[in-house]
Order: sequence, then structure tokens, then C-alpha cells
Amino acid sequence: MSGLNLAQQEAVNYMHGPCLVLAGAGSGKTRVITHKIARLMQAGLEARRILAITFTNKAATEMRERAKALVGREAKEVVICTFHALGVRLLRQDGEVLGLKQQFSILDSDDVTSILKDAGGTTDAATARQWQWAISLWKNMGLNAAQAEAQAKDDNERITARIMQRYEERLTAYQSVDFDDLIGLPLKLLRDHAPVREKWQQLLGHVLVDEYQDTNATQYELLKLLVGDKGRFTAVGDDDQSIYGWRGATLDNLRRLPQDWPNLKVVKLEQNYRSTTSILKAANNVIQPNPKLFPKTLFSELGEGEPVRIVDCDNEEHEAERTVARIQSIRANGLGKDWKDFAVLYRANHQARVLEQALRKAQIPYKVSGGQSFFDRAEIRDLCAWLRLWVNNDDDPAFLRAVTTPKRGIGHQTLQSLGTFASKYKLSLFEALFSNSLSSALSSRAVGSLHEFGRYINDLEFRARHTHGAEDARTFLNEWLKDIGYEKHLYDSEENEKLAASRWTNVMDFCDWMAQRCGGQIDDAAGVTMASEKKSLIEVAQTISLLSTISEREKDQNVVTLSTLHAAKGLEWPHVVLAGCVEGLLPFKPEDGEDRGAVSEATLQRIQEERRLMYVGITRAQRSLAVSWTKKRKKGREFVAAQPSRFIAEMALEKATTKEDPREKLKALRAEFAKKAAATEAAASVQGIG
Ligand code: ATP
Ligand code: MG
Repeated sequence: MSGLNLAQQEAVNYMHGPCLVLAGAGSGKTRVITHKIARLMQAGLEARRILAITFTNKAATEMRERAKALVGREAKEVVICTFHALGVRLLRQDGEVLGLKQQFSILDSDDVTSILKDAGGTTDAATARQWQWAISLWKNMGLNAAQAEAQAKDDNERITARIMQRYEERLTAYQSVDFDDLIGLPLKLLRDHAPVREKWQQLLGHVLVDEYQDTNATQYELLKLLVGDKGRFTAVGDDDQSIYGWRGATLDNLRRLPQDWPNLKVVKLEQNYRSTTSILKAANNVIQPNPKLFPKTLFSELGEGEPVRIVDCDNEEHEAERTVARIQSIRANGLGKDWKDFAVLYRANHQARVLEQALRKAQIPYKVSGGQSFFDRAEIRDLCAWLRLWVNNDDDPAFLRAVTTPKRGIGHQTLQSLGTFASKYKLSLFEALFSNSLSSALSSRAVGSLHEFGRYINDLEFRARHTHGAEDARTFLNEWLKDIGYEKHLYDSEENEKLAASRWTNVMDFCDWMAQRCGGQIDDAAGVTMASEKKSLIEVAQTISLLSTISEREKDQNVVTLSTLHAAKGLEWPHVVLAGCVEGLLPFKPEDGEDRGAVSEATLQRIQEERRLMYVGITRAQRSLAVSWTKKRKKGREFVAAQPSRFIAEMALEKATTKEDPREKLKALRAEFAKKAAATEAAASVQGIG
């Protein structure tokens, strides 16, 4: 019981009935779960009879580590997993009752898209993805195809429901399940098959659920069936952190608990152990306008701490530079010593790119969670393979990727023979292709094509060495991409034109970035971009190929975290920057009507969910928090003027200042936004919603 306050102890000690821990961020809800696992074991419950459900696989791994630290190796037997992993377990053990083979396969999103294309008779992936989205929502609401058709509101929905029927038939034929089935099918299994249900209910002595506010209707039903009438479960959650409504999660699950379980014990935690008072105050202010499901208060004893900073920036690049400068200066001041003490959080995946580039430039190791790293994208890896080959001809993996991307008539067979030849004579592939005796192993036509490729690489390398400055680099890179037909290759290999276009945009951005480096843009210590000597393209390629291994090497180790707000849930860092806090991004795309004072119920709910997202972001910070916004933001390929997020005004910071920003200006900004916020709320209450 050490390390728990009285309220936490109460929740941990209550083991024989349903228990809900409802509390704000950082109040030790997750800690209650880990300690309760230990307490249950101490009270004699076998480890394998305890089930703890987390929101992500990563959270499960972490919880297992913590439990192990508390009770030792025995904790290995505790089942700690996500709802989906639990579903797999249930279906592998008992799915045969539903006619599912034990070795069923689990389809990923791409598989589902292609099956839907087939089921719906279309070749258009975008259409198929729309169906996929609708079907997934229906499944999350517990509807099958027939039920979906019965409740369809228009022809479009009716058609989708019929496609769903055909889709389901195909899954059965393929002995496959999709992601949503991993919840839906176990639910069906337990609901319709009493012996299976009883077996599981007898096995499970206690079920614990973290992040309960983000469960959906089917997950709640599944939980009910797992625990049975005895209701031995512990759910912990925070209605203010419900951020997956768009994926079917529902706060009804919280509302229903006291109704479905009259003997529910509700424990509230009020002390926050994570953040300083300044951070907590900002968080409380932001969430305050949202309607309250349960009244809550949060306090912290960690002291006032650093004031929350508002950082205004000209554009995304400037923001990234300032973010890097902030990280560096906090480290220089000795306030945070490890890279892993820092996180930069943002609303949308695409925001990572500019941040990544700035971090790379400053040689700061980082990882991107909750989305793909820009440098991990297939198209960027393609280009990097070529660059690596210019820099180091003996880089075999780079050789193989470059020689086949785009395809240039050098086939699998040729490459295999080249590989055999190379390893026989202990040569790199590139060396091997110029070897005189290669003709003994390959046809003269194949040797010819290989020679042509080799000469091309040599030529590129030579030219790259003699290309200096941004303009020349840009010209060179454009010519090269044209030569190899890379744009055509993207459009040929990607059916969805929009996706192909966005991949091509990434390529152009990457080339721009390289060209700027050749122009000699470097950073001084304060993160201000200054001009320096021009560099050759080969020098730039060299640093890039060096850097492209940083994040690989340091995965999950001592690195700065870049993460979407959604993926940051439940986690904490000493120093956090919330980037891109502008209207349109956070909150995301406000709809037009809003500014004219007509706020629809849907818009209002969406803004409330965005506000919760901001609250989640703020409350990840332990010691320092910076909130940055940009005066311009990129919309597609254009720049548009941007306004600071309304949430910045709502944070109602008292002492926040920035170097360039006189207080007066900020005050005026705040007043303006308070006025806007008031108008929004007023409009809401006129409609009787607020
Ligand atoms: P979130 O809502 O963000 O998921 P949470 O309520 O799950 O937060 P935890 O992550 O469990 O909160 O705890 C937040 C931090 O406070 C952790 O670093 C945890 O170790 C610490 N903590 C929790 N309870 C106590 C306590 N009683 N004494 C000291 N530290 C505590
Ligand atoms: Mg938690």
C-alpha cells in the first residue's frame, strides 16, 4: 500500500464487487490498476485469473513491467492486453463454436479495402474505404448487415449495408476476421454460448480496465459478459479525456455503470501527482467550458513551477526551429538532461515532418509514435537509397532498392545471379557488376543493363559532387527524378491518385529540403537560420544518409518523442511542447456555420472532443509546457493566415510571456479570443445546448 493515498487504497482494497475510479489526469488511476493487480495476488487470487485491459499494446507492456516490479516474476501469468488481443485469445480458444478455424487469419486495413472492392464491384479504393469506415462504425455499434440495412437512413446506407453482407460472406469463406470482429465475434461467442460464457466467468476472478472512457458499446457488452453477475471488475477513467468518439467510443459506458451496477463503488481521486500548479491550472481552465458528467476537482502539491509559455511563430519551419531551440536550452540549463524527457505533441500526423527535419538538422535523436516518420515513408526511403548509393557504392541494400525502384528492366533473376557472383568473389554488388568475369555468370544483355546502371550511378555521383548551392541542387534533383521516371512510378504503383499525389508532394518537399541544405542554411545555437557556405549535394547526401540511421538505432531509447495527441494518452514527460495550436488544426477544421453564430449540435460536440484533446495534451506535461502557434499555416500546397487556437485564450494564462511578444499584445489577443469564445458559448446556449 506504500505509494498510494487513502482514496487510491480504498479502490485497491475493494475487491469483491464493481468499482469505478473516476478522476482527472495524472491522479494515479493507472497506478491503481497496477497496485490492485498486486493486491489481488496478495489476497490469494491466482495471477492467471486476473485480466487487465489497456488501450494500447505499449501500455500493456509497460503495465506488465510495473506489475513485475511490484510482485516479481509471478506477474508474467497475469493477462494484460488490449481488448483486441483479448478477442484473439477468446477466438483462438473457443472460436470453433462459431465455425471459425483455430488458425483464422486477421486482416489488416489494406486487405479489408481490397475485399471490399471485390464485394462492391469497384476498382476505386477511395470508395471502398468509405464503405470500410461505415461498416466499421456499424460493427462497433454491434449491428450486423441485416440490422444495418433495417436502420439505413438513405439509399447510400442501404447499398453499403448490402455490400457489408457480401463482405461478411467473403470473410467467412476465407476464414478471416477484421479488426472489429475481434470484439464483435467474442461478444457473440459469449452471448450465444452459455458453456463458453460460464467457463470464462469462472476463470476470471477480477477484470481491470484502464482508459475506460474510450471504450465503445461492444466492448462494454463484452466486459459485462466476462464478469457476469458477480461484477468483479475495476474500471478507471476520466470523462474529460474521452477522445475517440470519432471511432465509436461512447461516454454512455460511463453513464451506464451506476445504472447497470447498483452496488457500484465509485472512488474519486483529486490529487494530481504529475504536473505543477501552473500546468494544472491551464488544463482546468481549458476543460472548464465543457459540460460535466461528474463534478471533479484536481490539485497538485508540486508547486507553482515554470509558467506555461505561449510561443508565437511565423510558420511551421520557424515553429520547428524554436521547438528545437527550446529543447536545447532546457538541456543547457540542466533542467532536463535526457532526450527522453521531451515530447512534442501535435494534432495531425503531417505536422511531424517539419519537426523531424529540424531535429535531424540539430542531430537530436527522436522517434515518431502514433504515425509514420516522414523518413520512414516508402518514397523517401526510395530516394535515400539512391543517395546512399552515391555516397557509398558498396551499400548493397541501397543498391538493390535503387536498381529496382523504379523498375528498369533488371529482373529478379539477374540480381540473384549477380548476388551469387558477388558473394563468391567477396565483392559488393556494385563492384561485381564491373567485374570482367561477370559475363561467365550472366547473359550479355543482363551485363549490359547492369553496366548501364553502374555508369549512371557513377555519373550521378560525379555531378552531385560538383553541384553547389540551392538553385543548382534543385535543377539537378529535378532532372534526376525525371530521368528515372519517379513521378510516373508513383502514379503507376498507387491506384489512388490522391495518395500518389501526396507521395509526390513528399518527394518535392524532400528535394526542397536538400536544396536548402546545399544553399548553406544552418542553425545558430538559438535556432535562428543563418546562411553559411554553400555545400555540395554529395556532402548533404552524406549527412542525410548518416542521419537516416539515428532513429533506427535509438528506437524507444533515449530519444525525444514526437507524437499525435491521440497517441500520447496515458503517458507523461517532464517537458512538453504542444505544436500547431491554431484554429483549423486544433480545434480541427471548424465548420463554416460556426463563425456566423449558428452552431450545430454536431459541431459543438466535435469542439468539445477537441477541447478534451487539448486537455489531454496539456496534462502530459510534468514540469514545463510550451504551447506554440504559427501566423501562417500550410493548407495543401498553399499558405494561409492562421489564428491562434481558441484554447490558448481559454487557458487564461496570467504570467505567460514570450521574448518577442509584449504583454500588451498578448492581452489584446486574449481579450479578442475570450470575446470569440463567449460568442460561441452564447450561440450554444441560445440553442439550448450549452
Ligand atoms: P492519465 O489520466 O493521464 O492516464 P493517471 O490518472 O492514470 O493519468 P498515473 O499515470 O497513474 O495517472 O499517475 C501519474 C503520475 O503520478 C505517475 O508518475 C505516478 O507514478 C504518480 N503517482 C500516482 N499516484 C501517486 C502517489 N500516491 N504518490 C506518488 N506518486 C503518484
Ligand atoms: Mg492512466
